[in-house]
Amino acid sequence: MSERPQPVIVGAGPAGIRAAEALVAAGLRPLVVDEAPSCGGQIYRQRLAPDERSTRDLYGSEAQKAEALHRDFAALDGKLDYWPQALLWNLRDGRADIMVAGTSRQVAYDGLLLATGATDRILPIPGWTLPGVFTLGGAQIALKSQGCAIGSRSVFLGSGPLLYLVAWQYMKAGAKVAAVLDTAPFAAKFNLLRGLPLFPGIVLRGMRMTAELKLAGVGLHYGVADPRIEGKNAVETIAWRQGGLEHRLACDGIGYGLALRSETQLADLAGCRFAFNQRDRAALPERDAAGRTSVPGVYLAGDGAGIAGADAAERAGERAALALLQDRSLSPDAARAAVLEAELARIGRFREVLEAAFPFPAHWAKDIADSTILCRCEEVTAGEVRAAIGQFGVHELNRLKAVSRIGMGRCQGRVCGSAAAELLAHETSRGIEAVGRLRSQAPIKPVPLTLALAAQQEAAE
Ligand SMILES: Cc1cc2nc3c(=O)[nH]c(=O)nc-3n(C[C@H](O)[C@H](O)[C@H](O)COP(=O)(O)OP(=O)(O)OC[C@H]3O[C@@H](n4cnc5c(N)ncnc54)[C@H](O)[C@@H]3O)c2cc1C
Repeated sequence: MSERPQPVIVGAGPAGIRAAEALVAAGLRPLVVDEAPSCGGQIYRQRLAPDERSTRDLYGSEAQKAEALHRDFAALDGKLDYWPQALLWNLRDGRADIMVAGTSRQVAYDGLLLATGATDRILPIPGWTLPGVFTLGGAQIALKSQGCAIGSRSVFLGSGPLLYLVAWQYMKAGAKVAAVLDTAPFAAKFNLLRGLPLFPGIVLRGMRMTAELKLAGVGLHYGVADPRIEGKNAVETIAWRQGGLEHRLACDGIGYGLALRSETQLADLAGCRFAFNQRDRAALPERDAAGRTSVPGVYLAGDGAGIAGADAAERAGERAALALLQDRSLSPDAARAAVLEAELARIGRFREVLEAAFPFPAHWAKDIADSTILCRCEEVTAGEVRAAIGQFGVHELNRLKAVSRIGMGRCQGRVCGSAAAELLAHETSRGIEAVGRLRSQAPIKPVPLTLALAAQQEAAE
C-alpha cells in the first residue's frame, strides 16, 4: 500500500511554525519549506551570522515572542522535515516544484498550508529607483540580519506602523535618523484611541516610540505630499510639500513603504478563488474563518492571506492546521479552534483601527508624474502606462500587462502590481476593485532556466 504524501507547509514564519507544531502534535510529519536560511519569517528573522547583539536588541518588546517561536520550532526537530533555503516556485496537480540547493525537487503533497507572508507595498515616486532607496522592510532586514544601516543620515517615508517602528529601531541602534515623513495627516492618528480598549499595550507602545523619536530630535512630519527623491548617482536629498510649503532635506538613505501586501501567487497557482478585499485594497484568496480555501486540502494562514500582523499569524497558523486535521477526521480540539477564531476576530477589529490611522494615499494615481518609472524590471514609466491605457482602451490589468509589459519582469508584478492597478483604476475612472488582478505564473520568483526545464521534463515523465 502506498504511503499518504506529507502535508506541505510553505513558510517558517509565525504562521507556518504554529501550523507545524499543531500538525506534529496530532502525529503528522509535515514538510516545512522556506526560502530563508533560518526560521522566524519577517518579524522574527534571525541574524545571518552571530554578533554581539542580544535578542532584546534585535526584537525589542517582541524578544520573548521571538525566542519562544525559535525555541518551539527547534523542539520539533526530528518530528518534521524542514528545508531552509528552499523556494517553492510552482504547483501543479498536487505536486510542488521546489528549488533547494540549486536543484529542483518535485514533492507530492496531501494538504498544502500556505503561510507565505507579505512584502512592502510600494507606490513609485520620482527617484525611488536611485541607489540608497530601500523599502521599509528592506531597511529593517539590513539592520536585523546584518546589523547595518541603509545610510549615515536616513529618512523614513510612507505610512503604516512599520514606518515609526523602523525609524525607532534605527534610532535605538545608534543610526542617525534625519526625519520621519508620514503621508497621512496628523489627525488620522486620533483613530488609534479607538484601539485602546482592544490592545492598549500596542497603542501605548506606538505612542512611546513616537515620543522617543521626537525627544531625540527626529523631525516628524505629517500630511507629506508629492515626495521626490533627488540625487545624481544616488540619494542626496528628499523634497516634499506640506501645508502648501516646499521642503527639502539632505539624506543618503531612504526607507519607503505604504503598509504591506500579501504574497498570494501560490494560492493562485493552487487554483484558489479570489475576491477583492477593500481593507487591503487587493484581491485575496478566499478563506473561511479556519483558513480553508475554495480548493479542498489547501489552507491559508498569516499575512499571505490578508495583512493582520504576527500575533494573528501565529493564531491563524494553528487554526488552519486544526482545520486540516479536522478534514482528515483527526478530531482536533474544537474549543481551542473557537478561542483562536475569537482572538483573530478581535485582531481584525484592531486592523480596521490601524487602517484609519495610517490611510492609503488615495491621491497617488492622480499626482504621479508621467516621467516616474512604474515598473523597474521593464523600465516602464507612468506616462507610458497612461498612454497604453488610452491607446488600447484597456480596462483590465492582465490586458495592461500585455500591452505595456508592466508586471512581466523579474518581480512578476509583486512590486509594481498595486501601483499599476491604482493607475488603471484612476485612468478609467473606476474603483480599484473593478480592474482585476494580475494572474500568477510559474516560476513565481526567478529560477535558473535549466532548473525549470528539468522540472518540466520530470513532470512529463
Ligand atoms: C520586511 C518586513 C518586516 C516586518 N517587520 C515587522 C516588525 O518589525 N514588527 C511587526 O510587528 N511586524 C512586522 N512585519 C509584519 C510581520 O512580519 C508579519 O505580520 C508576520 O511576520 C506574518 O507572519 P507570517 O508567518 O504570515 O509570514 P512571514 O513572517 O512573512 O513568513 C513567511 C515566510 O514564508 C517564506 N516564503 C514565502 N514564499 C515562499 C515560497 N514560495 N517558498 C518558500 N518560502 C516562502 C518567507 O521566506 C517567509 O520566511 C514585517 C513585514 C515585512 C514584510
